[in-house]
Amino acid sequence: MKIAILSRNAKLYSTQRLVEAALQHGHEVDVIDHLKCIIITEQKKPAIYYNGKYLENYDAVIPRIGASVTFYGSAVVRQFEMKKVFSTVESQALIRSRDKLRSLQILSRDGLGLPKTVFTNYSMDVDEIISEVGGAPVIIKLLEGTQGLGVVLAETKKAAASVIQAFHNLKARIIVQEFIKESKGADIRAFVVDGKVVGAMKRQGKEGEFRSNLHRGGSSDIIKLSKVETAAAIKAAKALGLQVAGVDMLQSSRGPLIIEVNSSPGLKGIESATGVDVASKIIQYIEKNAPLSKIQKDKI
Ligand code: ADP
Ligand code: GLU
Repeated sequence: MKIAILSRNAKLYSTQRLVEAALQHGHEVDVIDHLKCIIITEQKKPAIYYNGKYLENYDAVIPRIGASVTFYGSAVVRQFEMKKVFSTVESQALIRSRDKLRSLQILSRDGLGLPKTVFTNYSMDVDEIISEVGGAPVIIKLLEGTQGLGVVLAETKKAAASVIQAFHNLKARIIVQEFIKESKGADIRAFVVDGKVVGAMKRQGKEGEFRSNLHRGGSSDIIKLSKVETAAAIKAAKALGLQVAGVDMLQSSRGPLIIEVNSSPGLKGIESATGVDVASKIIQYIEKNAPLSKIQKDKI
């Protein structure tokens, strides 16, 4: 097969591993910078122009789209879809996953455990917002943040009130969330491919840090998930329409609580913590589904 990896940097660990795995499995593979793709549409002739030529004859794309370029990146993925190319992440699912509130609304509808969360445009009812999520301390999150940046722990009601008001004044959209103290600065990342958890790790924030993101200096270790945790991870990925996903959960006294589902989950942390060849799992998922999907799409 001919596979395109949409990535801005061929040297990134995840991109390199996907290239290696594709080659090992006997495929042709190109790394394409989605921001340098030109999207051309006309009647029945969707095209993508890149580096002096039209991109043709790809069987599958693996989008690795950063959060800051979701709009353009997802338009490029959609253009591949218009050309009947199989994508490991559908453009719609990519966009959906990038909105924390929209994702939480869908997860809630599907019965998944979540930290209780409030979204409001109106900052006058700060008392009500804070008491809805069980009082201070509370977590305040920028809706479009990643890597733990834009996540604030407000220890007191006063601190929470001023942070909420400051964000509102800046016109930044935020959610206010119940603080899950039992998780003790740790979270679980379950890597789901094609309806199965292929690897899971526990990430622990460094001393005195409530955020467990590896980008914030957290460390990670392999973990065996409980049945309930495995089921929650699979259900969360499915609810958001993601066949490749990094599902982040907090362990709480009422079971696993989903905090985020990542549609371009990094491979470095999970492969080094678990020793699993996650890149090959993604290639195998393409091998199983891309040919079939092409036939189905031709019939539509
Ligand atoms: P980001 O998308 O920026 O990584 P997250 O929502 O995943 O933001 O939060 C970053 C980290 O903060 C999580 O990995 C977790 O360790 C911690 N965290 C997030 N939400 C809560 C919460 N409600 N209670 C306790 N800790 C939390
Ligand atoms: N960038 C993602 C995150 O911060 C993935 C990191 C990882 O899997 O190591 O959650």
